[in-house]
Amino acid sequence: RASMELTFLAIKPDGVQCGLMGSSIKCEKKGFRLVTMHVHRGSEELLKQHHIDLKDHPFYPGLVTYMSSGPVVTVVWEGLNVVKTGRVMLGETNPADSKPGTIHGDFCIQVGRNIIHCSDSVKSAEREISLWFKSKELIELSTFLFWWVWV
Ligand code: UDP
Ligand code: MG
Repeated sequence: RASMELTFLAIKPDGVQCGLMGSSIKCEKKGFRLVTMHVHRGSEELLKQHHIDLKDHPFYPGLVTYMSSGPVVTVVWEGLNVVKTGRVMLGETNPADSKPGTIHGDFCIQVGRNIIHCSDSVKSAEREISLWFKSKELIELSTFLFWWVWV
């Protein structure tokens, strides 16, 4: 069912250090279901894999250093169109292009320190969720959201 779509969101080390975790977890109020959440000290190897599609870009080494510089908070969200809506809630990749009201628009300034990640497609979400979580960590739950929010 489309309503059972999942996405992967990560509060990056700068978001954690700057006290922006609470502000970045807006998805619950929006009406999505938190499937699992973890505070993770992302290893360099894991972050290299996470951003492997960018490996040929000049900013890749700096991106991996930044992303593995401290704990990250990883979250899986479930709900109708959650991949697309997650990206809309984040704003553009570059905070300077992001509208107020989005997380990038409200809480950060530059692309290399943009505090939060969200999967860009259903396929990326599947890859990222399996990279960061074991399937037994994905908690299934029947919730009232299905009938009252997602249908
Ligand atoms: N990034 C960067 N410089 C750039 C483009 C991207 O430092 O010129 C970083 C930025 O933190 C971004 C991440 O690399 O969030 C992943 O880039 P991608 O193009 O996948 O954008 P996203 O999916 O995060 O919007
Ligand atoms: Mg991306």
